[in-house]
Amino acid sequence: MDRFERDVLTMLCAGLPELRQECANLSADRKALLDRIEVEAASRRPVARLVSQLLECDPEDIVEARRGPATGLPGAGGGRADDEVFGCPDDSCNHRARTVPAGEPPRCALLGLRMRRL
Ligand SMILES: [Zn+2]
Repeated sequence: MDRFERDVLTMLCAGLPELRQECANLSADRKALLDRIEVEAASRRPVARLVSQLLECDPEDIVEARRGPATGLPGAGGGRADDEVFGCPDDSCNHRARTVPAGEPPRCALLGLRMRRL
């Protein structure tokens, strides 16, 4: 998988809950498209083209458009030093999540699997 696809996957992994919410109000076609993206992404197949279709933007703009502070990775900054950091279960994307010590490990939104401790 090339770097761009990995970036798109990272965006998808980190932003999936929001994306699902956004698409909940959209047409059945759009929801079907998001379902397909989730299946493809979970199978680690390229999804950049499908995501750009869903968001109606150029593939190159996908990652940039989602990189604003409001949609930044949850807990990616400002964590305490003793927070535990978790990453993608199969290391397919750069999504990182933190949790409090002894807290439940976060799960990957795409795979539904527990994330790996880094
Ligand atoms: Zn992931």
